Amino acid sequence: MPELPEVQTVVQTLAPHAVGKVIWEINVHRPDVVRPMHVNLARKSIGRRIVSIARRGKQIIWTLEDGNRFVIHLGMSGRLTLEPADSGLAPHTHVVIHVGNSVQRTRQIRFRDPRRFGGVWWIGSEEPAGAMGPEPLTMKTGELVKRLGKTTRAIKNALLDQHLIAGLGNIYVDESLFEAGIHPLARADKLSVEQIARLNRAIKAVLKRALKHRGSTLRDYRDADGTAGGFQSLHRVYGRTDQPCHTCKRPLKRIVIGGRSTHFCPRCQTRS
Ligand SMILES: [Zn+2]
Repeated sequence: MPELPEVQTVVQTLAPHAVGKVIWEINVHRPDVVRPMHVNLARKSIGRRIVSIARRGKQIIWTLEDGNRFVIHLGMSGRLTLEPADSGLAPHTHVVIHVGNSVQRTRQIRFRDPRRFGGVWWIGSEEPAGAMGPEPLTMKTGELVKRLGKTTRAIKNALLDQHLIAGLGNIYVDESLFEAGIHPLARADKLSVEQIARLNRAIKAVLKRALKHRGSTLRDYRDADGTAGGFQSLHRVYGRTDQPCHTCKRPLKRIVIGGRSTHFCPRCQTRS
């Protein structure tokens, strides 16, 4: 599933081709990916200029010149790519957005999502993602201490909760907990301030490294230009079950926590 580094890379590759441009046409091939169900996305967007495309958590927020917004979530397998208008539509292309000026309408932004966990949400003038937790790249340790202190869940589950902290998913939570030396089953409210400070630094360091390598491609993820990420070969624990830990050389383990596959080093990551 695309997490913060992948979604940010999509935004960075998409924005230069779309911001400042007018939406000339929108074709919705699969109406149930647009929510709420009654919204006519085309009628509300056509003729409007795109003033910004930004990331918040794992969401991509499009702001139009009239102040209205819609949000695209890539879900598990979603892609948002720029394609030449004369190229054939790939299977599972649900929404096509034509942007450009009146004489040059040669490129399209296409939303494709075989598993359909993603979609397009019209939010109009409402604030996007009101209940979402803070952004990890700018989050202060004090804020994280406060938030983790309120939950008895395992730290792995707490960090996956988008209301507690936004943008992290399975890959970057596992990588951050390894970097911080914290066991994924450690209880969130039992972590010391020192451990949480280390965790906060680890989250930022892991995300920055992943951003530098344009995210991780395990299967579906591509940026807006169709390019795969490069960070998957630099994962220290994620997907490396039974391979040697880079620090202690012992084999890494995989367990399931809250239904999610979790990778860690039983020696380097401690519960207390
Ligand atoms: Zn180790």
